[in-house]
Amino acid sequence: MSQTHHPRPVNEPYDLVVCGGGITGAGIARDAAHRGLRVALVEKKDFGSGTSSKSSKLVHGGLRYLERYEFKLVFEGTNERALQMRKAPHLVRPIPFLFPIFKSNKPGLAVVDIGLWLYDGLAMFKNQLHRTYRNGKKVLAKEAALREDGLVGGIEYVDCLTDDARLTLENVLDARTLGADTFSYTAVIGMERDARGRVSGVRVRDQFSGAERVLPTRLAVVAGGPWTDEILGTAGVDLGRKLLRPTKGVHIVVDHAKVPITRAITFTTRDRRVAFAIPWVERTVIGTTDTDFQGSPDDVAADAADVKYLCDAANVLFPAAHLGADDVIATWAGLRPLIAPDKAERESDVSREHEVFTRDEGIVFIAGGKLTTYRRMAKETVDKAVEFLNDRGDAIFDGRTIKKCRTKNRSLPGAQGLESHNQAGVRHIAERLASSAGVEARIAEHLSQAYGMRAESVVLRGLADRALLERIDPELPYIWAEVDHAVDVDLARTIDDVLMRRIPLGLRARGQGLAVVDRVADRMGPRLGWDAAERRRQIEAYTKVVESTTRFRATPPARMAQ
Ligand code: FAD
Repeated sequence: MSQTHHPRPVNEPYDLVVCGGGITGAGIARDAAHRGLRVALVEKKDFGSGTSSKSSKLVHGGLRYLERYEFKLVFEGTNERALQMRKAPHLVRPIPFLFPIFKSNKPGLAVVDIGLWLYDGLAMFKNQLHRTYRNGKKVLAKEAALREDGLVGGIEYVDCLTDDARLTLENVLDARTLGADTFSYTAVIGMERDARGRVSGVRVRDQFSGAERVLPTRLAVVAGGPWTDEILGTAGVDLGRKLLRPTKGVHIVVDHAKVPITRAITFTTRDRRVAFAIPWVERTVIGTTDTDFQGSPDDVAADAADVKYLCDAANVLFPAAHLGADDVIATWAGLRPLIAPDKAERESDVSREHEVFTRDEGIVFIAGGKLTTYRRMAKETVDKAVEFLNDRGDAIFDGRTIKKCRTKNRSLPGAQGLESHNQAGVRHIAERLASSAGVEARIAEHLSQAYGMRAESVVLRGLADRALLERIDPELPYIWAEVDHAVDVDLARTIDDVLMRRIPLGLRARGQGLAVVDRVADRMGPRLGWDAAERRRQIEAYTKVVESTTRFRATPPARMAQ
């Protein structure tokens, strides 16, 4: 894959500074750099640390949107899903889903079956077609953990599972390859304007040193997810009302032995919301809630009511599980950055559509959307940005040719050089790691799915020092070489970055990685120049993050999630 560089000449402004390094901002920075624009991406914490690591991790058409006749959303979703399966097969993997239907289910089997035909049709029958079982026994033969009582049938279909944080990271890495400047732990704190009131720079603060500076730019693009209203406020933009109506979504992680499923299970909760139980090899993930949220997006966390709601819902579906708060290994909570509707609607009825807005003063912002459609959202945003800069005239691109969006044809870094852009290609990487480097099969599988073609460079670190190929946690396939790789290559700067997003022991390990936090700090510290005080501060900061995800243990289940 060719690499293009568009470094910003000294004293020249950027064409755009993207504010917010979630999947939306990372996708925009990558697309813009690929077109030949001079770009900076600014993220106040780690890339992907906001909503983009707190999703259900599905790249899907969104079956449930059919209920509300949002065909366009499903069409876009299924098409983007097909594209991502080719351009990032290591990160976007098809997995089987089963939608069991019980006597009490509304909609019933016939309606869900029609919905699935529509779903397959909107994907232009590129899906592996769904299968319908009109008999509870056949469904139980597939998934024995399900409730037998009232089970009348089920539907099996295929959708994709991803690693949302890595999807974001690979967009950032590619944006850098294409010439973008990217800054994590750098917060947008204001915008500078010229005499005509146009944005001329984005004021930022380094979160470690506190140093402030201005990134000169022609345009600011705000991709702040649930922080969008806050960033626009910082930028002095008054919309006269809140743009977003964020809703909170919580997931819980339990031992796979507690909910031993081999397919993802789609189900409707008692309050008629669609939810999922998703097998995560050694674990099972159950989610999600959907409740209005009023506080600061920085403080979102699972509370006792959220955890009880999800355990209760799972216990109805899997009667032998008897899940309670003590079974929960980890939680994560995020805010859906939904655009506020004009009239009051139930939380789960608010549309997931996105919208791009342009302001004459030189600010483009995007709100709403999904992980699944990030590439398309990025395209629309950069199209609007280029149109805006073109309309402004004054030879703004100084003779540079700005190309059209070509991200449809470009693989993410882990898939670059992967000859067969499909699951067979990814399996081949795992087989090669196992046969030529002697890596244990489960570890090889994990490395191939997390890093794709980049997995070999992780394993190479272990050839000189075999201890680096050992598991960090005996239950999970993560290895020590990944800690070094996270810092040296994958832009990790804190223990939280490593243990929550690069090697997510914080989401999967019993004790959430606290047992190894000292050893992780020992490996990271010398690479990042930490002194003893900084090492201590880092460990304390990670401990606090873990505490925030287990806050539900300390809060009484007073409020029932609706
Ligand atoms: P974010 O990821 O939140 O990024 C915004 C970034 O801006 C943050 O990283 C934040 O730190 C940064 N920021 C904030 N303030 C500043 C500042 N002052 N300066 C610099 N940076 C700043 N979509 C799917 O397709 N599939 C799913 O399965 C799915 N499941 C979901 C489940 C839940 C519970 C939720 C909440 C969402 C789900 N979504 C799903 C939606 C999807 O996760 C989001 O639409 C997407 O991640 C939003 O990305 P974003 O980049 O817009 O926002």
